[in-house]
Amino acid sequence: MEFITSDEVQKFTRNNGRFVAETVNGRKVDFDLLTYGVGLDYYTEPVRKEVEIKSGIVTDAKLRTSAADAYAAGDIAVFYDLMVERHNQMGTWDNAEAHGRVAARNMAGADEDFFDVPTYTTTMFGSTLAVMGVTPDVQPDLESVRTFSFEEKFYRKLFFKDDRLVGAIMIGPPKGRKKLIEIMRSRRKIERPKQELLDPANLKD
Ligand SMILES: Cc1cc2nc3c(=O)[nH]c(=O)nc-3n(C[C@H](O)[C@H](O)[C@H](O)COP(=O)(O)OP(=O)(O)OC[C@H]3O[C@@H](n4cnc5c(N)ncnc54)[C@H](O)[C@@H]3O)c2cc1C
Repeated sequence: MEFITSDEVQKFTRNNGRFVAETVNGRKVDFDLLTYGVGLDYYTEPVRKEVEIKSGIVTDAKLRTSAADAYAAGDIAVFYDLMVERHNQMGTWDNAEAHGRVAARNMAGADEDFFDVPTYTTTMFGSTLAVMGVTPDVQPDLESVRTFSFEEKFYRKLFFKDDRLVGAIMIGPPKGRKKLIEIMRSRRKIERPKQELLDPANLKD
């Protein structure tokens, strides 16, 4: 596998039964299988005039839209995320379900804030990739610490905002994952050296 960065695909061609991708920088790359992500397209047309819209429907931390008694939840909601203290938008089942619960309770008269640690775990190339909380693609100015070992096949990076643990990326055995989520959920300030949290031995209950 080769990662090509700082370049873009310009066109795809077929040559003698082989597929070739041509890049903006003039590279030609043979490939057997093509998959690509197109991102999310939010259908906001029906409510465009009624509520504040950015890429989706803007809400506060209680998932209330700018219109009285109207709530938004799931992929469409650009919700005020208490985890990062700014608006955010997610595209996962867990988030959609958790939003649904809070929006429904608030519609029924509760006064709950939405606060959750998003998580995503997948396996590939004989390894595990676990992502939790907030990462720099959502919030670029996060402080971070990391550790990795090619020999032992792991990589761990933790993200902090105002001395609070807000996110993590783990490649390899996700040891200590639950504890990291618990620390994120607690929103407590990290008093000890942040590097210590990289070692699963320091993450036992
Ligand atoms: C191919 C694919 C793979 C995915 N894999 C994963 C995964 O592995 N893990 C994961 O966590 N997430 C995954 N997701 C994302 C996940 O599916 C979404 O985050 C989740 O479904 C969002 O739920 P939702 O209720 O917000 O929106 P949706 O599930 O999109 O539901 C919105 C509903 O509203 C309906 N609707 C739209 N407009 C109108 C209208 N005007 N009137 C009435 N109804 C309307 C739509 O038909 C739809 O049924 C995947 C998504 C895709 C597309």
